[in-house]
Amino acid sequence: MSGLVIIGASYAGVQAGISAREKGYQGPIRIVADEIHLPYQRPPLSKGFLSGSVAHSNLILRGDDYFKAQNIEMMLGHRAVRIDRDAGRVELEGGEHLAFDQLLIATGSRARQLTVPGAGGADIVYLRTLDHAVDLKPRLEAANEVVIIGGGFIGLEVAATAAKAGKKVVMIEAVSRLLERAVSPLISQFLLDMHVAHGVDIRFHQSVTAIENYGALHEVICSNGDRVRGDLIVAGIGGIANDEIASAAGIPCANGIDVDEYGRTGVPGIYAAGDCSNHHNIFAGRRVRLESVQNATDQGKAAGTAIAGHLEPYVAVPRFWSDQYDAKLQIVGLSGPDDTAVIRGALSDGKFSVFYYREARLMAVDSINKPGDQMIARRLIAASLSPSPEQAADLSFDLKKVEAAA
Ligand SMILES: Cc1cc2nc3c(=O)[nH]c(=O)nc-3n(C[C@H](O)[C@H](O)[C@H](O)COP(=O)(O)OP(=O)(O)OC[C@H]3O[C@@H](n4cnc5c(N)ncnc54)[C@H](O)[C@@H]3O)c2cc1C
Repeated sequence: MSGLVIIGASYAGVQAGISAREKGYQGPIRIVADEIHLPYQRPPLSKGFLSGSVAHSNLILRGDDYFKAQNIEMMLGHRAVRIDRDAGRVELEGGEHLAFDQLLIATGSRARQLTVPGAGGADIVYLRTLDHAVDLKPRLEAANEVVIIGGGFIGLEVAATAAKAGKKVVMIEAVSRLLERAVSPLISQFLLDMHVAHGVDIRFHQSVTAIENYGALHEVICSNGDRVRGDLIVAGIGGIANDEIASAAGIPCANGIDVDEYGRTGVPGIYAAGDCSNHHNIFAGRRVRLESVQNATDQGKAAGTAIAGHLEPYVAVPRFWSDQYDAKLQIVGLSGPDDTAVIRGALSDGKFSVFYYREARLMAVDSINKPGDQMIARRLIAASLSPSPEQAADLSFDLKKVEAAA
């Protein structure tokens, strides 16, 4: 028996291996990882690890002993370069082949690179891996003027850490507001006010056209001609699915590897999960490729369970979070640009939620420092229950009553 080969040792790959074992998979399980580190948590890389409140040792997801006890072989520092689906084997860099009965592709995503003139010589930091964070941390401590390209989650979290450490921070954002694709204008404005209050200079409607390098100093040239000086440039301009190894093997991909609710690709015996895959999400009503710990873990679980011979679909409500200064932003569900936003609580208190409605249906809730709202919203959305917009806006209305009534 050749067993299960998993490519990628992060949330999706590790969870799939664990779930396969838990559900009774008896064959060998090998996890091939191009990074040399034991699987680790990525979210703290742009948060506590960067600010110094989370130590390296606290990032580890599972230790060596755990994998040994589960009889899962970790092959760290090995890159898979080719999948031969007909022969049922994976080729590793260096020429070694691993035969498989089942294969799970959990290769995640990588940071999109800036390609403007001068970008290659600027030593721009892209924050995706532990090695990137270990490289960034001392450079951030030593920097005086930090330029952040991109007002997405990673850019904003790095900006918060840098601003709190007293650095001069300029952020360059191509569109008109922060986190445009993820949150409503209300939340964008709240975050903008918070960053501005901490001294971050945010320039909207600017794309970077070139970077000029003068030794340790760089000038970032913006589309309006502005020149922004910095001794450190961090770019957070989005993620790209690592699906090339799958598409080269003829596995259907479209912005990630196409999978069903059990993590199955179009090819029997081959599964995919996490950032590298896209699926039809029942809460979005369309195919999506999500980049979140929850999605990677829950998809990995569904795939590992299916590999062990049990079909339990992935139907979790999407969730995400971000920490910036004293604000914890939590998101449950998937909102769209045309949804109606209803505020529960007062923005001025720094504790509120935004409920998003599509017609009368509650689609998503974003909360700032309101974990209780998130817990109830998660249950409501999962059960397709919607408080009326009036009830959502009324702080004296107990949202649990909607559940009780159902
Ligand atoms: C800085 C940062 C902050 C984040 N913050 C949050 C947050 O607050 N909340 C949240 O929900 N999500 C957050 N995320 C996103 C979250 O970490 C990802 O969605 C999650 O890690 C995806 O897990 P994954 O297992 O699909 O893939 P990944 O974590 O991307 O892991 C894939 C692994 O596969 C390896 N690999 C790729 N190709 C090969 C190959 N050919 N051979 C061998 N190995 C290969 C990669 O090197 C990597 O180790 C953050 C991400 C980053 C980078």
